[in-house]
Parts: sequence; C-alpha cells; structure tokens
Amino acid sequence: MALIVQKFGGSSVADAEKIKHVAERIIRAQIDGNQVCVVVSAMGDTTDELIDLAESVSSKPHGREMDVLLTAGERISMSLLAMAIIEQGGKAKSFTGYQAGISTDSAHGSARIWKLEPERIRKSLEAGEVAIVAGFQGFSFENGDTTTLGRGGSDTTAVALAASLKADVCEIYSDVDGIYTADPRIVPRAHKLAQIDIDSMLELSSSGAKILYIRAVEFARRHQVPIRVRSTFSADAGTLIYTAIEGDNMEEPIVSGVATDDTQAKITVIGLPDRPGKAAEVFSVVSESGANIDMIVQNVSTDENHLSDISFTLPHSDRHKVVEALKAKQADVGFQSISHDDEIGKLSIVGAGMKTSSGVSAKLFGALAKAGINIEMISTSEIRISVVTRADQLKEATRIVHTAFELDAADTAIVYTGTGR
Ligand code: ASP
Ligand code: MG
Repeated sequence: MALIVQKFGGSSVADAEKIKHVAERIIRAQIDGNQVCVVVSAMGDTTDELIDLAESVSSKPHGREMDVLLTAGERISMSLLAMAIIEQGGKAKSFTGYQAGISTDSAHGSARIWKLEPERIRKSLEAGEVAIVAGFQGFSFENGDTTTLGRGGSDTTAVALAASLKADVCEIYSDVDGIYTADPRIVPRAHKLAQIDIDSMLELSSSGAKILYIRAVEFARRHQVPIRVRSTFSADAGTLIYTAIEGDNMEEPIVSGVATDDTQAKITVIGLPDRPGKAAEVFSVVSESGANIDMIVQNVSTDENHLSDISFTLPHSDRHKVVEALKAKQADVGFQSISHDDEIGKLSIVGAGMKTSSGVSAKLFGALAKAGINIEMISTSEIRISVVTRADQLKEATRIVHTAFELDAADTAIVYTGTGR
C-alpha cells in the first residue's frame, strides 16, 4: 500500500463545490489503494482578507496575534474538507499544525520547521482515515505559541510531512497542470514537462518560476521527496520532480526551461577605491540592511586613480533601504556616487545537461545578439545561466531563447489562467 501526501492550494478549495470535488478526488485515491494524508491551504483569498482585516485594526499587527489569526484560514478549509469526505461516506479527521506535531522556531510570520512528530497522523492513517493537516502552521518549540511558515508555506508543510511519513510521493494540486518550459503567458508555445530533476527545479524556483515555493523545493531535495505537480481540475499526470536518476538511460535535456524575473532592481556603486576589503565593506552594509542580493558584477579599474564600479541586483522591495544604507556610509567606504535602475529584467536558462554540454552560453548570447537585445549582466551556476536585460525586452528575449533551445511546442498555444496556488 502506498502512502501519498496530497496538498491542495487555495484555488482548489475556494468554495463549497470545489471542496466537495476535492473530497471526491481524495476518496478515489484511497479506493485506489493508497493511504492519504492531505494538506490544505486557506480557501481562495482568505489569507489576504485576514491580513487586510488585521491592518484595519492595527497599523502594525502584533506578530504573535497575526499568526493566530492567519492559521484560522487553514482550519476553516481542513474542517470543511473533513466534513465533505465524511458526507461522501469516507473517514477523515482534521489536525492543526500543533496536533500534527509540527514544531518550529519562534520567528512569527516566517518560522522554520524544527521537528516533526506526526504520531497522530500516523495513527489516523493506520485507522483508514484521511488525515487532513492545516497547511503553513506549527507551534514554537520554545513556548508553544502558534507560528506560520510564511506565505505559500503549505507546500513546505506537505513536503515536510511527506519526508517524515516516508511517503511515496507528495502531490501538489493547484489550478495549473504542471511545470512548463516557460511561463505560458509569456511564451504561448511553452510545453509541459513530463518530468524534471530537483536540482533544475530548485534553480527554476530561485530564478523566478512561481509554481512551487523555494523552501518546499529545498526541503524536498534535502529529504529526497519526489513531488508531482498537477491540476485539481483535470486527470492529467502533471510533472514529476524526481530526486534521483532512475536508470542510466535517462537523457538529461540540455535546457529544461527558461525562467523570468521582473521583480529585481540594480544598484551601482560608482568610483569605489580598487583596494582589498572595499567590496567586503559595501556588502556588509548591504547585508546589515537585511537585503538578499542576487547577481554581482565588478568592473576592473583601468584609469590611474584606481577606482572601480560594482553593480548588483536585489528585489525591488529592498532597493530603497539599501540605497539609503549605502548613502549613509558613503564617506566611510569612500565611493563617489551611487545609482539605481528599476527597469531591469532577468532571464535564466536551466538544465542539468548543461554540465556536460559546451556551447550553451554561446547559443544563448548569440540568440539575444541576433535580436539586438543587449546583455547587461551575466551570472552562471553549474546548471544555470542568467542574464539581465532591459525590462521592456524581457518577454521578447524569453520567446527568442525558448525557440533557440528548441523548446517550442509543435502546435497550439496553451491558454493559461491559473495562479498555481
Ligand atoms: N494560506 C497561506 C497563504 O496564502 C499559505 C498557503 O497558501 O500556502 O500564503
Ligand atoms: Mg493561499
């Protein structure tokens, strides 16, 4: 008998009809001979509505109380789903994060899972029940307070439970039917991947693909949990994210997909003394401001005053505070000026086959050059190449690169409306 963990996103349980449909699907999986543990998100936009409500009574909602409030969303969906399953003749029991034994640190709003002791879940599954767990929540191992794992954290709950229960697979259900070679809203000829290795998935997620939350993918990689991403509203098998190469006849594609990210900005520190320690000074100011930086480029100084420029990218939302922090330290660090640019776009190609294939970067740069698209920054990892372009050229660049790497589907454009949640 297989054990599967199924996670249903907010759009899958958005109303009573959808909850009944999900209940049916779960019962079918049980009848097919599986033990089924389910993780649910809050219904539709409930979490956003609760946040709005909190902000209407408080200008800075208290972290502990915010977490208590937000976990209510998942409790609504878990209990309704259990009722629907029971109504349809099945056996089900719902559990809060605490009851499911999910302990975390005490960082309200972005807690990290510390330990899982899902004894009650195991018992429930052994009793033939569908065990339904509220996503994205746990309790602090320090003081027992309710915590949440951060927006989108139900994916992490599902993968963590799958790891702890040694499930055969973790299925992530939403309103999109899998992982595509590019965002189909940008590239109409994108096609769905039957499978992708987890390292490539991790690179895609960190390069801007929004289907799975990066923390969930990291967790799955660390604990070797295979994930299947599929749609609640179709029978399609979706995309398998595998954690190990099964058999050696599996040919890794050179490029699995093209990810885009239009949420980054660029900061350039101009006229920095070209001396050991100066880059360290700049980036300690950046890191003290709490920003996550992505790409870094330093120009070599050529003139006799020995000054260089350093550019780096970071999320738009962090740009203002980092510029302010650097300006405050301008005299100490000794650079001449600072500029910023919000109109950049980042494109990344990802694929496990890049490791062994040469000429990938030449092909990427060549395709962009032919289209007259200027590359402003470049960074690489073993299985990824990212470039920064002008924001208004990002979509065109993505389509050109998708074609250059022969990822275009033979025919019909796919109409994509889902949120992936
Ligand atoms: N309901 C939470 C959110 O909207 C958690 C989740 O959906 O995974 O962020
Ligand atoms: Mg949600």
